[in-house]
Formats: sequence, structure tokens, C-alpha cells
Amino acid sequence: MNILRNIFLKASQSAWLRDRATRLGFVRRTAGRFLPGEDADAALAAARNLADSRVISLLTHLGENVSSRPEAEAVTTQYLDLLARVRAAGLPCEISVKLTQLGLDLDADFCFANVTKLIEASVSADPAASKTLWIDMEQSPYIDVTLELYARARRNFRNVGVCVQAYLYRTEKDVASLIAQGATVRLVKGAYSEPAEIAYPKKSDVDDSYFRLAQALLGPEARRAGVRAAMATHDTRLIARITEWAAVQQIPRDEVEFAMLYGIQRAEQLRLAAEGYRSCVLISYGSYWFPWFMRRLAERPANAWFLARNLFAK
Ligand SMILES: Cc1cc2nc3c(=O)[nH]c(=O)nc-3n(C[C@H](O)[C@H](O)[C@H](O)COP(=O)(O)OP(=O)(O)OC[C@H]3O[C@@H](n4cnc5c(N)ncnc54)[C@H](O)[C@@H]3O)c2cc1C
Repeated sequence: MNILRNIFLKASQSAWLRDRATRLGFVRRTAGRFLPGEDADAALAAARNLADSRVISLLTHLGENVSSRPEAEAVTTQYLDLLARVRAAGLPCEISVKLTQLGLDLDADFCFANVTKLIEASVSADPAASKTLWIDMEQSPYIDVTLELYARARRNFRNVGVCVQAYLYRTEKDVASLIAQGATVRLVKGAYSEPAEIAYPKKSDVDDSYFRLAQALLGPEARRAGVRAAMATHDTRLIARITEWAAVQQIPRDEVEFAMLYGIQRAEQLRLAAEGYRSCVLISYGSYWFPWFMRRLAERPANAWFLARNLFAK
């Protein structure tokens, strides 16, 4: 399974494959399971449906590592339009962005200016109506700069959150520092291929790390500091461990937040919302879906059967 995972992760970085594979009908059909569509209209329609079941949406326009300022500016403008549409429609949606899509590879200050525009556009006069602007975590070379930009943004705004990855040894320290900042944090296992020098190679170690970090982020010190923590995982055993532990700690259900990806564990998303937990779903849209789709196959190589089935479907 690790071999397949590595093949998909390598494929996610191949521009050659992206150009060819995205034209194939069976690849597009399989990706469609995780993607309501390529444009904002499709994402907003999916968010509206989820809102009917008390599920909050996180919207992300697929893309990463843009190589020019006009491209990064176009992404920023597109997100500003999306935020305006979300507000006008009164939808329970937040936005999640990748810093390399907002120009991080070009100039950190330019990227920061773009992020700041999005955070400002997410603020509302009524603090309860303000939206959080979430910052994704990318490959390990970006971690320090992402956490630095986050801390910089956090000095001026409360409505900004950042993602941390449980597969990295360093995350325990990063989480301690984020708790001290009273930060807004999304905890994930981690989606990239990282070497054993910096990341747990064994899945069981990643799962244990995830649970320890979840306990820290929901623990008394974090709660006193005003931390908002979202547990982004589809791992139902881990979700059960966290909810059982939170119940023993007498943490109200509406202060325990989970997030999953569109199209994965739908029943679990609805169950958590119906039971009073904060349940969120990340909806991705856009035409640049190939690297993202390959990472979804890497997470669960069994999804490759889907791909194979769609090859023969009409
Ligand atoms: C809201 C959200 C935001 C994220 N943001 C980031 C980020 O910023 N940076 C980052 O590195 N990663 C991010 N990720 C991805 C994350 O790191 C994991 O790669 C992904 O969530 C799979 O891990 P898991 O916790 O679900 O556990 P796993 O142990 O991988 O999966 C547990 C179970 O969930 C189901 N499952 C998991 N993945 C899939 C799939 N692709 N298809 C079908 N079933 C599946 C399977 O039943 C599997 O057995 C995000 C994930 C979510 C949900």
C-alpha cells in the first residue's frame, strides 16, 4: 500500500501527467466523486445542500505554487468575489487557502498582503458573523514561513486559522506555541510525502500523535487561552476516541469541531452534525484538480478501484 501511496504522491507532482490525465473521461468521472464541479456555482450549490443538514462548508479554489504576481492577484480577487457571494447568500461557509497559491514562492510580503485582504473581507461588524480565513499547511519547506505569516496575521486579526500536521515530529512544539497564542487550529494527519527524519513513517504512530495533539488542543490550557480547534479527519475510530474523551472532560459538543472532505464519510458528517458537534466539510472546486485528486488517491489507494471501474463505465 505504501508503494501505491508513493506512486500517487509522485504523480501529483507531474505536470506531464496532469496535462494528459485530466483530459480522460474516466479520470474526470472519478475525480467528480470528490468535487461537486469546477466552478464556484457548483461549490456554493453543494454548500447550500450541506447547510440544510447543519453542516458548515469550507471552500477552497484548487491551485498551488503560482509562478506570477498576476496569477496570485487573480486568485485573491476570485476569493474576494466568492466571499461576497457567500455573504450575500447568508451561507455558513468559510474559506481555506494555500499560501503558495497567493504568491508565497514569489515574495512573502506580497503573499501576506493578499492574505490580509482575504482576512479583512472575512471580518464582519458583528463579531459573531465574522468568518475565519483558514490557511492550509503544505510540504515541510513551507512550515516555518506559514507559521510566521500566521503569527503576523494573528497580531492584527482574530479570524484567521492555520493547519498543522500530526505526522511531523515538530508539531507537538508548534501546537504548544499555537496554544500560547490562543490560536485557531486545524489538525490533520498530513497529505504529503515526508522523510522519516521529520515525520512518523508508521500510520499507528501518526494516529497516536493525532490523538495526543487533539487532547492538547481541546485541553484545559487551550480552552483557557481561547483556542478554536478543528479535528480534520475521516478516521472514525479516532473520531470516536476524541468524542469519548471530550465527553469525560465535559466539553460541550458544540465546542468540538470536526472537518472532512466533500464526498468522503458523508454519513459520519451528517451524524456528527445531528448529534450537536460542529461538523464542517471542505469543498474544493476549480480546474486545477489533478495534484489534489492524486493526494486523495494516495490517502486511500482503494480509491484506485473506483478509477479502474470508471475506466469501463459508459
Ligand atoms: C478539512 C480538511 C482539510 C485538510 N487540510 C490539509 C492541509 O492543509 N494540509 C495537509 O497536509 N493535509 C490536509 N488535509 C488532508 C489530511 O492531511 C489527510 O491526508 C486526510 O484527511 C486523510 O487522513 P485521515 O485523517 O482521514 O485518516 P486516514 O487514516 O488516512 O483515513 C481514515 C479513513 O478515512 C477514509 N478516507 C480517508 N481518506 C480518504 C479518501 N481520500 N478517500 C476515501 N476515503 C478516505 C477511509 O475510510 C480511511 O480508512 C485535510 C483534510 C481535511 C479533511
